[in-house]
Amino acid sequence: MVVHPETGRQQNLASQFGAEDRRVVASAPADAPAVTPTQVPTATFTTPLRPAPTLTRAPKGSKPNVTVSTGRLAVVAGFSKANGVREKLTYRVEIEEGLSVNGAAVAAAIHRTLTDPRGWQAIHPVSFERTDKPDADLRIILATPTLTDKLCLPLVTGGEVSCRVEDRVVLNAKRWMYAVPAYAGQVDLYRSYLVNHEVGHALGHGHSTCAQKNTPAPVMLQQTKGLAGCLPNAWPTIKAT
Ligand SMILES: [Zn+2]
Repeated sequence: MVVHPETGRQQNLASQFGAEDRRVVASAPADAPAVTPTQVPTATFTTPLRPAPTLTRAPKGSKPNVTVSTGRLAVVAGFSKANGVREKLTYRVEIEEGLSVNGAAVAAAIHRTLTDPRGWQAIHPVSFERTDKPDADLRIILATPTLTDKLCLPLVTGGEVSCRVEDRVVLNAKRWMYAVPAYAGQVDLYRSYLVNHEVGHALGHGHSTCAQKNTPAPVMLQQTKGLAGCLPNAWPTIKAT
């Protein structure tokens, strides 16, 4: 029987990475508590078998990947200066490897939202600054539903929603990509809602309700679960939170 050398090599590689996956997952709780900043990928993963994290266009006819979880987070390199003089709050953007997103574009969208004049900086004495350093005050993580559920524990996100736990703001990639029906055609606005809502928790805000139908929803309303008669709104300054 003849085994094609290329096939054999790929199978070997696949089994090596498979074993590596299991080892990392199994040792994660002891070696790397969830609150510990995640390091950039190690040199052992130099031959990715999955789409590169910066892939922006899926191959023709296939859907972008938002659900296949590698379980590995990569820090988006770069720095976006605070645009205010008040107390700096630093954050770092981390994206699960294998997601069909452009990390730099995601980080830019997050920074635009956080520094928007309609955002939290108008309400809180903070200026958001993006860093890629391990000592960031806040980690803003874009992850598959599977990893979101893990990183959000003890909160239950059910593969559908996002959360903030301790220093982690975890954005569910499924929502980031597809938003929710109430935001149909306004994915960018929904992304701003998502960032502002979860960062709002980090700033100490709890949930709000829709007080009056057909008025903008408070940003701290759980808009992913429904608008209760209110209108989509991403900005804390537009309505009392
Ligand atoms: Zn919430």
